[in-house]
Amino acid sequence: MTVTPLIAGNWKMNTNLASAAALAAAVAKGAVGGADLLVCPPFPWLSAVRAALGTGAVALGAQDCHPAAAGAHTGDVSAAMLAELGCQAVIVGHSERRADHGESDALVRDKAAAAQNAGMMAVICVGETEAERDDGNALSVVAGQLANSIPPGARAENTVIAYEPVWAIGSGRTPTVEDVAAMHRHMRLEIAGLVAASRDVRLLYGGSVKPANAAALLAAEDVNGALVGGASLAADDFLAIAAAV
Ligand code: PEP
Repeated sequence: MTVTPLIAGNWKMNTNLASAAALAAAVAKGAVGGADLLVCPPFPWLSAVRAALGTGAVALGAQDCHPAAAGAHTGDVSAAMLAELGCQAVIVGHSERRADHGESDALVRDKAAAAQNAGMMAVICVGETEAERDDGNALSVVAGQLANSIPPGARAENTVIAYEPVWAIGSGRTPTVEDVAAMHRHMRLEIAGLVAASRDVRLLYGGSVKPANAAALLAAEDVNGALVGGASLAADDFLAIAAAV
């Protein structure tokens, strides 16, 4: 695999204007080669974070977008608006949005298509619940999410898949490295008919990634980076995870 790993930070609904700008500046200052870096702040801070990142290599992303190009969708944000602000990526289908907003695979697919049509990368999140894993259904659940959340015409350069077991997000628990590797091998096979040049699609692991466990998780077969929540809110931790690639 020759793809450049991606370490993406999902700041969720955290930071204020000043702390977001300071966090972005610290990440930009400490960034070194080896992995592509992406930070995804809350919508209101996108411009300030863009400015704080400067002209360095750290990319800007958003945490969601609406599938429609424009129109009567109060409170929503279109992919084109995000692209105009300098976003290069949009996270879609995060389990918190699937749970909090009842987002279906079909909606996630349409959001991913909107992001890609606006010239951005769609970071499409999938992952099983604890009950689904306990019932032995993790692989089939993720296969179904991939089949139904990846838009037609997706290509390796505009598609990133993040495997985030719901039970590992923010919990301090992670699957074993063997389980992560098995899921990523499975996902690589499943996306073969869904994304052009599927061998080059970056498959991220997400869920309680910390500096202490990053090296082991990132070394697993077919893991091409990480989607990081809590640990992305401290520049030193986020950069340490990137350095573990
Ligand atoms: C996430 O929500 O995308 C995530 C991976 O969170 P955390 O790293 O805090 O588990």
